Amino acid sequence: AVKPAPEARVTPMMAQYVEIKAANPDSLLFYRMGDFYELFFNDAEIASQALGIVLTKRGKHQGEDIPMCGVPVDRADDYLQRLIGLGHRVAVCEQTEDPAEAKKRGAKSVVRRDVVRLVTPGTITEDRLLDPGRANYFLAIARRRASDTQWAYGLAAVDISTGHFVLSETDGTGLAAEIARFEPREILIPDVIHDDPELAAFWRETRTAITPLSREGLDPASAERRLKDYFGVATLDAFGSFSRAEITAAGSALFYIEKTQIGSRPVLNPPSRENAGAALAIDAATRANLELTRTLAGERAGSLLATIDATVTPGGARCLAERLAGPLTDVRMIHDRQDAVGALVENGDLRERVRRILKRSPDLARALSRLGLGRGGPRDLACVRDGLFAARDLGLELAKTPDLPRELSAAAERLKSLRTDVADKLAAALAEELPLLKRDGGFIRQGFLSDLDELRELQQDSRRFIAALQARYANDTGCRTLRVKHNHMIGYFVEVPQNVGEDLLKEPWKDTFVHRQTMAGAMRFSTMELGELESKIASAADRALKIELGLFDTMAQELLDLSGDVAAAAEAIAVVDVTAALADLAVRLDWRRPTTDNGLAFTIKGGRHPVVEAALKREGTAFIANDSDLSGKDAGHILLITGPNMGGKSTYLRQNALIVVLAQMGSFVPAKEAHVGVVDRLFSRVGAADDLARGRSTFMVEMVETAAILNQATSHSLVILDEIGRGTATFDGLSIAWAAIEHLHEANCCRALFATHFHELTALADRLPRIANATLKVTEWNNEVVFLHEVVPGAADRSYGLQVARLAGLPHAVVERAKTILSELEKSDREKPKRALVDDLPLFAMPVRQEPVVQQAKLDLLREALAAIDPDQMTPREALDALYRLKAQG
Ligand code: ADP
Repeated sequence: AVKPAPEARVTPMMAQYVEIKAANPDSLLFYRMGDFYELFFNDAEIASQALGIVLTKRGKHQGEDIPMCGVPVDRADDYLQRLIGLGHRVAVCEQTEDPAEAKKRGAKSVVRRDVVRLVTPGTITEDRLLDPGRANYFLAIARRRASDTQWAYGLAAVDISTGHFVLSETDGTGLAAEIARFEPREILIPDVIHDDPELAAFWRETRTAITPLSREGLDPASAERRLKDYFGVATLDAFGSFSRAEITAAGSALFYIEKTQIGSRPVLNPPSRENAGAALAIDAATRANLELTRTLAGERAGSLLATIDATVTPGGARCLAERLAGPLTDVRMIHDRQDAVGALVENGDLRERVRRILKRSPDLARALSRLGLGRGGPRDLACVRDGLFAARDLGLELAKTPDLPRELSAAAERLKSLRTDVADKLAAALAEELPLLKRDGGFIRQGFLSDLDELRELQQDSRRFIAALQARYANDTGCRTLRVKHNHMIGYFVEVPQNVGEDLLKEPWKDTFVHRQTMAGAMRFSTMELGELESKIASAADRALKIELGLFDTMAQELLDLSGDVAAAAEAIAVVDVTAALADLAVRLDWRRPTTDNGLAFTIKGGRHPVVEAALKREGTAFIANDSDLSGKDAGHILLITGPNMGGKSTYLRQNALIVVLAQMGSFVPAKEAHVGVVDRLFSRVGAADDLARGRSTFMVEMVETAAILNQATSHSLVILDEIGRGTATFDGLSIAWAAIEHLHEANCCRALFATHFHELTALADRLPRIANATLKVTEWNNEVVFLHEVVPGAADRSYGLQVARLAGLPHAVVERAKTILSELEKSDREKPKRALVDDLPLFAMPVRQEPVVQQAKLDLLREALAAIDPDQMTPREALDALYRLKAQG
């Protein structure tokens, strides 16, 4: 046999590493060695780059240096957070036996190691890795043929940090909106869906970590078995009725939990079904445009959520975010929530008392989940203790009040019936100051258990002995600076200055003091007495820790036996918190309860934009409230808004959409009065930035989104369109906008707000029965334009582009020159009445054939084109394009 060259031999440890790594090829492997997690090879290179830590070498593998880097175990959370944030997955590999055991097997044996957990963006539970105000969902998706042309998608959203487990089903068109509603951190999809070429772009655009799963074991039958198994039930009927796609998705979610949590079972609530139709459908673009939970820049600050979040508990904050992301369409459920908010608006006393109790209620759900996964510490026990007490007090407080509306009385019932004897026990057992980790010990209160007290006494005594020994040694040697100290390397030792140390090496001391270390200017010795005391202390500490850990496990288990009740209590606390917070907000900001029903009303009196209003308030400026009316009997009305830039069009458009979202999530709304017939789908196309990252032009994005609206809006939808048709040549844009309005009016029959620069469109109000014009009022003062931000009936008479340009600091000479050009253009325009264009293009007209008319129309079109060009709004490139187009049209 050929002997391998010495450098090609693989050490046993490396062999183990390579084997474990091969089983986890998609993850960075954190390989535990002592107090460090080490990374090797390619992983080391990736991690050292990502974390900015030093890349070193460790031995050779098949003749090559092995790159290595490491992170200390006790700071691993920080590094994990950064790696997860960058989209990596991490496999944590621990030593699963005592190194002493391995030694017994032979000098060359390697300590057994195993991956104990896969850390992925969607499955983290550590407090420091989580945003307290946000759910941390991973989403498992399954699909099934619904018909020859249609797929049904089942979605299972799981937040293992809180136990939330929600199922829903949707079709291909609703998939993006459902994904956007959950804002998952990670999406799991069977690789057949992942590799479907038709969906490739779709997955890319979700911009979420995607984990493909092989289809094995993900069929509906094994999914059902998995679910029954997990919850220990014989049939799933008790949880509700689920579609096959939903069950399959739920099964893959559980499969993924098994795969990542390896042996630990998070506490999950039984799955609940959320019918996609029960939530107001808001597609991803609309969600982004309206800045519901984050701004267009991706920040929470400045979003609607941040503005309305007056909750005082982390669970309440998550519940609010969830309600805002998925407003309801069921009138009865909306009324229930409004009733509850209303009750706390009326009863300020109760609201204050409730909020005072809530303020001392910690994050019960997440602490429980960590305990369930065996990752909890003493502080998690304390957290549950405080949470249970707060829950009980909250229940008692609410129960004192008669005639509570349904939402609150249900919460009170749940909280009142909660057993708190476990909490009492925790209160008796836990010390005041608690260590982070249970293995640090010292978290059980003095006097709770006599065995433990005795062992601690023993440690105390030994320490006193040590102090006495130090005094004796100092006396005997005559060295007043002799000290007994302790470190992890050599345990207890005597430290003396160098010159005294030299003496101790000789008779008569050399039998008592055994030399251990020489330091700069000092020497260290151990003694037999110290050694004996040391082992006494150590064994007492060991035994004490064992007792503490035993108590920890018992108490954690008692809590987990109650986990269903505790989770329900956490949920009830969150609901009360959201309700009280919305009531607080309504009182502080003078919001009113909207009327909600199943009709097509949309009447707002004195509506405001909550985020803009809050921003203006900080500057000491008042927000101008505005009315809206889009109510119709069988079909909604359309309001066409023209007006200068900066007049407040976008603000007005968005505020009406936000009022719908707030009303349907069960909140009061920023208006004096509001009557909103429940909206089934909310669409908004507001503004547009070039989406170069996705390789699409502004115009393409605009058209894709407009197409979605025109194809999907029903008579119960609300559509907000801001300046569509802007991204292309004026005539193209005008004709598209025109045709889109006609379609909304004739085919979709929805309620809509349409802001435009094309003044020509205002003529549509005369031809179509359910369209009205509105404009934002502007006056001039000392030749300066003043925006009044007031919405009034009628069309804008001018666009004030020049004034706005001057405000923006365009050079004086340019503004003056533009004025001259404008007056020339207007003069020639006046010779031809403005309405002409509209009259020449009757509704749904066929192309005109008569030559002279065409000639005339062409000229008119050119004039209009010139008038409509707004150089101040154009980039040089757009200006050049416009010029080419004009030339081509002439
Ligand atoms: P437009 O869409 O017409 O260009 P915006 O809606 O962006 O105008 O509004 C421009 C600015 O005017 C806003 O940033 C805000 O400061 C102010 N504004 C808008 N609406 C109001 C209002 N109703 N009351 C007070 N200020 C407003």
